[in-house]
Amino acid sequence: MVTATGLRDAIEEMLPGVVADRRHLHQHPELGFQEIETSRFVVARLEDIGVEDLRTGIAKTGVTALIRGGRGPGKTVLLRADMDALPILEENEVEYRSVHPGVMHACGHDAHTAGLLGVARLLQDRRDEFGGTVKLLFQPAEEGPGGAQPMIEAGVLNDPKVDACFGLHVAQEVPVGMIELRAGPAMAASDRFAIKIKGQGGHGARPQSTIDPIAVGAQIVVALQTLVSRELDPVEAGVVTVGAFLAGEAFNVIPNTAELRGTVRTFTPENRELLSRRVQELAKGIGAAMRANVEVEYHHGYPPTVNDPAMTALVWEAATAVVGTDRVEEGAPIMGAEDFSYFLEKVPGCFFFVGSKNEERGLIWGHHHPRFDIDEQTMAVGMEVLTETTLRYLNGV
Ligand SMILES: [Zn+2]
Ligand SMILES: [Zn+2]
Repeated sequence: MVTATGLRDAIEEMLPGVVADRRHLHQHPELGFQEIETSRFVVARLEDIGVEDLRTGIAKTGVTALIRGGRGPGKTVLLRADMDALPILEENEVEYRSVHPGVMHACGHDAHTAGLLGVARLLQDRRDEFGGTVKLLFQPAEEGPGGAQPMIEAGVLNDPKVDACFGLHVAQEVPVGMIELRAGPAMAASDRFAIKIKGQGGHGARPQSTIDPIAVGAQIVVALQTLVSRELDPVEAGVVTVGAFLAGEAFNVIPNTAELRGTVRTFTPENRELLSRRVQELAKGIGAAMRANVEVEYHHGYPPTVNDPAMTALVWEAATAVVGTDRVEEGAPIMGAEDFSYFLEKVPGCFFFVGSKNEERGLIWGHHHPRFDIDEQTMAVGMEVLTETTLRYLNGV
């Protein structure tokens, strides 16, 4: 049995360094597939820690490395952090504010990267406490278009073959010191569509000689809202959001075309298929009924994030050992999406949430907000749970 106290002392001691790393990354954010300096920083740290089999440039900027346990061969567990930032102009007035205008770590991936480097150091120092292998993985472009899938295509789940995977996300909806996780579908699949309506433009006062794409688009928007309310099983969750309605410029001109763009969120393959089919049928059917030509581009994005029950139980126990029973909760499913889902499609694992909100300190702004910032104590908690989980998994506890 691993002693959580020994870990905690080590984490307390190394936390200032981890916080400094996080602030360095926060100050120097890079967008998806452009994490050049970030991955250089990761590689330098990993070389310093002394990991094995360091591989770089996977799916452009991804990095993997191994830590082999001193107790002989065994299972291989993958630990993942995402490295990318967002196209947001930071509004925080902190000394570690982004120096790249219009780019910001507003989701906490800086904390994930710095935290996993901390976990790497902890595990490297404890190699004689486990058998098997830890595969560290730093991925690009989680915010889109997605770095997990191309890394998997590049073979990161082989050599050595990965048996289980774990990842975490800081959570601004959850107070610092709390852990949230759930077995089964935890985050939604995220698909998107563009509905292109071709009508026939003309004078705003002569509608009879036009086919008004705005009137068609309006009907489609309304009809789309009946998919979740009338066609999905009411006890299952789904979202259809039209986020853009692009059409026209002048008050007295009926335009030729209109375009609707939106997102669809579901938790099961069946519902995903249902909404995908029905969005297209509805849009085209309404278009035909109203004499317009409608084309639908439908793009399947990240699949649902589905946690393995046994792996979730393992994290639950590790989390309980770290923060106590009353601070581990089953979180509600989230309609947001996460490309850790691709790893979970291939190997059993668990993706969990580590509270990072601190109301007293004003650290309350949500993910992707220009004032997003975390209570950095979340990194100590996350590192301890992830390390504890890894040791328990590899030792078969
Ligand atoms: Zn995000
Ligand atoms: Zn994120």
